[in-house]
Amino acid sequence: MTTTVPTAAPKLTKKDFESDQDPRWCPGCGDYAILNVVQKVMPDLGVPRENIVFISGIGCSSRFPYYMKTYGFHTIHGRAPTFATGLKLARPELRVFMVTGDGDGFSIGANHLLHVLRRNVDIKVLLFNNRIYGLTKGQFSPCSESGKVTKSSPQGSLDRPIVPIAVALAAEATFVARTVDRNLPHFEATLRKAAAHKGGAFVEILQNCPIFNDMAHGHLYDAKTKLEAELILENGKPFVFGPVDNKKVLRLKGFRPEVVPMSEVKNPDELWKHDESDAISAAILSRLAWPDYPVPLGVFYDVDRPCYEETVVAQEAEVQAKKGKGDLKKLLNAGETWDIKAK
Ligand code: SF4
Repeated sequence: MTTTVPTAAPKLTKKDFESDQDPRWCPGCGDYAILNVVQKVMPDLGVPRENIVFISGIGCSSRFPYYMKTYGFHTIHGRAPTFATGLKLARPELRVFMVTGDGDGFSIGANHLLHVLRRNVDIKVLLFNNRIYGLTKGQFSPCSESGKVTKSSPQGSLDRPIVPIAVALAAEATFVARTVDRNLPHFEATLRKAAAHKGGAFVEILQNCPIFNDMAHGHLYDAKTKLEAELILENGKPFVFGPVDNKKVLRLKGFRPEVVPMSEVKNPDELWKHDESDAISAAILSRLAWPDYPVPLGVFYDVDRPCYEETVVAQEAEVQAKKGKGDLKKLLNAGETWDIKAK
């Protein structure tokens, strides 16, 4: 008699996560780099493809689910958080990623985004921030800078831009990070950290739209400015940045950060150090903007808190243990009900 010994499922590769759809993004779009890194990281999660779901709203970034060989749902404008929440409540064991853009996530979807973050639903939110509406051909978005001249703001936008990291922190997200499409190792490391976080993770990805807002993050791409503009956050370390021969550091003067040359630092032990569990420190970092300050990249904030779906399931079990299983029909007919009779 022959016996069959069960073998472990073969490890998936990046190729296993590439769908048969050709991406419909413009040549040079930052979305290609993002897709490439996401597909690369997926096999290392050790999760079968059928347990991974990508949910998006509307916009260039939201075409993402078509290009992932996982389950996916291209939903309606701004509503990806609601679909993702529903899915996690019904199937908490699934790994859910949500893809949105600065237009989708912070205009029509801003309300939903706030609530999915404050509830700590265990989904990973990837916000592609190109500071413009790309799909609808270049109108100013909630993240466009004041004075932005576009077809919908020919005299320059009068709006103040939203700072996504500051909003995510204010919404009580338990993991908040920022990365950039052209720094692939940094993006990959940040994505891995977000994927490993138990709870809602918010990752802002600064992304280039070469057609409608080219080089909106150019200071982080240009070799001449990159080292001055990029502040890589490292937990437990001081905020050092700049070229090797001109290192600078951020230190706190009261609650206000100031940039000083490293050479002026007398006692490095007294420097302000990054603490990913400190919400106040994260809030200060979220306000730093180029060119007054370097742009912080990395994990701003990372804390543990029970996930929404776990608390909902636990509450349901507790109530059922006390009161027994519910009866939907009885509930619907409880209280004041009326029979409408035909004359
Ligand atoms: Fe990418 Fe911009 Fe083209 Fe959209 S419009 S696909 S964001 S380059």
